[in-house]
Amino acid sequence: MNGTSLRSPSDGTRSAAEKRIVAPAAREEDASFDSALRPQTLDEFVGQKRVVSNLALTIEAASRRDEMIEHTLLSGMPGLGKTTLAQLIARELDAELITTSGPALERASDLAGILMNLRPRSVLFIDEVHRLRAAMEEYLYSAMEDFCIDIMLDQGPDARSMRVPIKRFTLVAATTREGLLSLPLRGRFGLRERLDIYPADDLTRILIRSAGLLNVALDDDAGHLLAQRARGTPRVANRFLRRARDVAQVEGTGRVSRKVVEETLTRLGVDERGLEELDRRILRTIVAHDGQPVGLKTIAVSVGEEPDTIEEIYEPYLIQQGYVQKTPQGRRASEAAWRLLDLPLPAAGNSPQGGGRRGQTRSKQSPENMFQ
Ligand code: ADP
Repeated sequence: MNGTSLRSPSDGTRSAAEKRIVAPAAREEDASFDSALRPQTLDEFVGQKRVVSNLALTIEAASRRDEMIEHTLLSGMPGLGKTTLAQLIARELDAELITTSGPALERASDLAGILMNLRPRSVLFIDEVHRLRAAMEEYLYSAMEDFCIDIMLDQGPDARSMRVPIKRFTLVAATTREGLLSLPLRGRFGLRERLDIYPADDLTRILIRSAGLLNVALDDDAGHLLAQRARGTPRVANRFLRRARDVAQVEGTGRVSRKVVEETLTRLGVDERGLEELDRRILRTIVAHDGQPVGLKTIAVSVGEEPDTIEEIYEPYLIQQGYVQKTPQGRRASEAAWRLLDLPLPAAGNSPQGGGRRGQTRSKQSPENMFQ
C-alpha cells in the first residue's frame, strides 16, 4: 500500500548531517540494527521511567477493561525510542501494528486508504506526524474522534462528502517537533509523553544489552566511555558500538576495550564531550555575534545545514549541555560555549539583554548578567 514505509527512502542526497556519525536520525545502515536491537517488552526498555510507567499503567487498565488505549503522542529527539515504544504498545496490547509516516503520506487518499483498511483494535503508528499535510489532518480529526472519515465525492460545485465508518483503533504518533502540531490535532491525543535525552548510566545499560545481542565483548570502562560520548541518544550509542566492533575486529582482538573506543571516537572526530566539528561550528557562529542572539537561519547558512536539521538534531544536545540558550530573539551562547572554544568572554557592553540588534545602542551589563 502506498505510504506505508517507515523511513523515507534514500534519494542519494543525504545532507552532511545525516551522514555524520553523531546525527541521531535513522540512516539506512541503522535500519536492520535498529530492529535487531529493539527491546521486545516494556520491561526491556531502558530508562525513561516515568513514560514507561505511565504507558504500562494505561495499557494494563485498558486491557482489564478489554479496551484500546487512548490516542498517544510520543515526542522527543530522533533516536530516543519513539518507534520502539510504538511497537511495544502494540505488542503489549496484542494488537496489529500499521506503520507509516507524515512524509510518506503524499495524498489524502493514502491516509484514507490506510484508515479504511484498519482492522478492529489495531495500532496505527504515524512517525514524524508534524510533517503531515494540513489536508490530511482533517481526515485524522474525525478518524480519531468519531472513528469515521469524510470522503469527498466529485469535485467543484457538485462536490459532496460521504461519511464512512472505520474500525476503532489507537493512533500512536511520534514527533521530533511537538510545537509544530496544530492545537486541534494535539488536543485529540489522550496521552502525551515526552522522551528525554538519556543519562550516561542508562546508555551504558543499553550498550551492554546491545553488545550481548551483537555478540561483542565490551569492557565495562569501554561501555562507559561510549555512553558518555553518545549525546544521550541510544541510536548514536548503538552506532558507536558497531564502529568500535569494526575497529576491534581489525585490531585482531575482537574485544571492545577502552583503547578501541578511544581510537574509534578519534576516527569519528567525536571529542570528549560527544561534540564534533559541526557542533563547534554552530557554537563558533553564535559566539561570533559577541553575546547577541543569533537567528536559526543565520546559523544554518553559516554552517551549511538546513535550519530544521540544526533545530531537530544538533541544538537539543547543545542546549541540554548548557552551551546554547534559546530565546525569543534567537540563540545565545552561554558562558560554557566560550570556555569550550577557549575564547575570551565578550566585553561587558555587548550584552544580549534587551534584544538589541548589532549596531543598536546596548545597555551596559556585567559579564555575569550576560549569560542569564
Ligand atoms: P526513534 O523512533 O525515537 O527515532 P527508535 O525507537 O528507532 O528511535 O530507537 C533507535 C534505536 O535505539 C533502536 O535500535 C532501539 O532499539 C534503541 N533504543 C531506543 N531507546 C531504547 C531504550 N530505552 N532501551 C533500549 N534500546 C533503545
